[in-house]
Amino acid sequence: MPYDPLTDDQREIRELIRDLSRDRVAPRAHDIDATGEFPADMVELLRDHDLFALCIPEEYGGTGTGALMVLVAIEELAKVCGTTSLLLAAQELGSLPIKLAGNEAQKAKYLPRLASGELLPAYALTESGSGSDSAAMRTSAKRDGDHYVINGDKRFITNASVAGVYIVFAKTDQTAGHRGISAFIVDADTPGFQVSRLEAKMGIKGSTTGELYFTDMRVPAENLLGEEGEGFKIAMRVLDHSRPGIGAQALGLAQGATDYALEYAKTRETMGKPIAQHQMIAGMLADMETKCEAARGLLYKVGLMIDEGAPAADLTKYSAMSKLFCSDVAMEVTTDAVQVLGGYGYVKEYPVERMMRDAKITQIYEGTNQIQRLVIAREMLREQRAFLLAGVS
Ligand SMILES: Cc1cc2nc3c(=O)[nH]c(=O)nc-3n(C[C@H](O)[C@H](O)[C@H](O)COP(=O)(O)OP(=O)(O)OC[C@H]3O[C@@H](n4cnc5c(N)ncnc54)[C@H](O)[C@@H]3O)c2cc1C
Repeated sequence: MPYDPLTDDQREIRELIRDLSRDRVAPRAHDIDATGEFPADMVELLRDHDLFALCIPEEYGGTGTGALMVLVAIEELAKVCGTTSLLLAAQELGSLPIKLAGNEAQKAKYLPRLASGELLPAYALTESGSGSDSAAMRTSAKRDGDHYVINGDKRFITNASVAGVYIVFAKTDQTAGHRGISAFIVDADTPGFQVSRLEAKMGIKGSTTGELYFTDMRVPAENLLGEEGEGFKIAMRVLDHSRPGIGAQALGLAQGATDYALEYAKTRETMGKPIAQHQMIAGMLADMETKCEAARGLLYKVGLMIDEGAPAADLTKYSAMSKLFCSDVAMEVTTDAVQVLGGYGYVKEYPVERMMRDAKITQIYEGTNQIQRLVIAREMLREQRAFLLAGVS
């Protein structure tokens, strides 16, 4: 039985999501991928079943069921549809800046609408010239009376064009490096805000990924998150909490592909027996299952760490580890699932090639896996383990 540290209440929610995933999401996954259209019906489904509320504390209209529950929900949706799972992961990513750094007025204004799903958010950090090196961003914000005037652009923003609110990072001081970055809540109807294009992608095709332009965009000063210059700190703190969500998406894709390959291997026969009984296929299935379960152990540990209020440095490291490991597992396992299905794995009639394409992005967004390795190593280098060498000469 897979690792399951959930409470009985959380298990009930998981059962509901499993049923929804099987009955309502899975039948749509192929078409969402084939058309590349944003799945408004899946947003409705998540709204109707209060799943966006999983991301929000109870006092602001959410379920208050915690981070582990969000991860499990994303995982269950991703087992059948990468795009639909990203709706929930993006809701968590876009809500986190307000949850972690918003003042009371900002929380009261936005969180209930994020909980109900009336509002979809977007997190706008990346620019064309600054992805991994986010401190190199050029978008500027200049104070003008009781407003900030924002000019610049953002690239690769999930939920572009469907979000009602954008968390925009911009430099209030161009000379201060990452200490010059501030974070703003920007309503989509703010004059000067424009979505200039949407990308055609390899996977997660129903999710919108777009470019934003800000031209003399006047944002009320009350929409500043935290203090001026705290934007980078907020961005990184958010990623510490949101990266496990990408791990959950990756794990769901990997487990979904494993489950599909297993059933296929039981019925597809070559040389007089089901391929599952050929040792090389059986070995591949065993490796896929083992990798998924190892990934789950690490991911759920991080969910529990967030819920138990783990120290920030530990969270930084373990969050990066979970995203790194789950996404590498997803790429390996979905590729193996295609191999198990042979030629049928390569054609669009079967879901595993879609899962493989969807898995690739999990190694790239919210910090590439090269960046995760840098983060993990940086935290390791700060740790003191000299005692392990005591007595070694
Ligand atoms: C579908 C999609 C959705 C996205 N959604 C969002 C979103 O909602 N919000 C948002 O802000 N961003 C989003 N992004 C952006 C994403 O986070 C960036 O693309 C990612 O962080 C990498 O940045 P980059 O593309 O500029 O690559 P680069 O930073 O140019 O990196 C190129 C390569 O160099 C490697 N590299 C870079 N620096 C180092 C280093 N120091 N050491 C070793 N290797 C290094 C990288 O790992 C990568 O392999 C999204 C991207 C995509 C494709």
